[in-house]
Amino acid sequence: MDLVLNVADYYFFTPYVYPSTWPEDEIIRQYLSLLVVTNLGAFILYFFFATLSYYFVFDHSLKKHPLFLENQVYREIKYTVQALPWISIPTVLLFLVEVRGYSKLYDNIEDSTYGWPGVIFSMMSFLFFTDMAIYWIHRGLHHKLVYKHLHKPHHLWKIATPFASHAFHPVDGFLQSLPYHVYPFIFPLHKVVYLGLYIFVNVWTISIHDGDFRVPGFLEAVINGSAHHTDHHLYFDYNYGQYFTLWDRIGGSFKYPSAFEGKGPLNYMKTITEEKLNDHGGNGCKNEQFFSGKSLKTK
Ligand SMILES: [Zn+2]
Ligand SMILES: [Zn+2]
Repeated sequence: MDLVLNVADYYFFTPYVYPSTWPEDEIIRQYLSLLVVTNLGAFILYFFFATLSYYFVFDHSLKKHPLFLENQVYREIKYTVQALPWISIPTVLLFLVEVRGYSKLYDNIEDSTYGWPGVIFSMMSFLFFTDMAIYWIHRGLHHKLVYKHLHKPHHLWKIATPFASHAFHPVDGFLQSLPYHVYPFIFPLHKVVYLGLYIFVNVWTISIHDGDFRVPGFLEAVINGSAHHTDHHLYFDYNYGQYFTLWDRIGGSFKYPSAFEGKGPLNYMKTITEEKLNDHGGNGCKNEQFFSGKSLKTK
């Protein structure tokens, strides 16, 4: 994050904002600058990618689904906008510790013990580590003592849109992002890779809320995509994972996505639309195989 802070200092904070007597490496100044940069970055990433996903990937017929809430998109955005600044307060503390040189982030490829292969390996290790840690944190957030206080707001949305991707209680949002921030304090990681992964993690989180279920066939068994996370929002106790299905399989919480069986929310919408078009009155019971209220838990 020092790369971003240096650029922000050079082009903005030093010439236009802070008095020249306030040194760039002073800790309070660094915290305040990181707070501004982190919030700006998070809002830009959220609005840019969630908007793209909402208009180009998300199927708007889902907004007519019986479980889609009134004004849901507005509520998802409002919840996120209120949560992100709170999440940034502890997050920036971790960035500050990192900027002051206490992490294992490095600047040059040559600093990696194994060169490029080491950098590539660190990306895979980052994904594996964060996937494992988020799985257990997320699962912990579903514990009955914690769930209603911290994680329930994110499950308000049964049929999520990309704008629900960051709509968390601030403590929940921070806890689920913690593995990302902790990783470079435990393992070496290239600074640019770290920034790239920050963007990737945010885009991925949006993508598993977009309701679009396309995953290349050979990856279907391995990747925890939108279809899996859709079922997490609908059925609660399954598919806690982030990128891979691995920990759900190990932890016994894997559920083959209903969308892959033709029984997801989009299949439901297609069926009722076709029925309306064909004017097959009295065929309503057919829908129940896709979406029976009985099969859903309401927590
Ligand atoms: Zn959950
Ligand atoms: Zn979600």
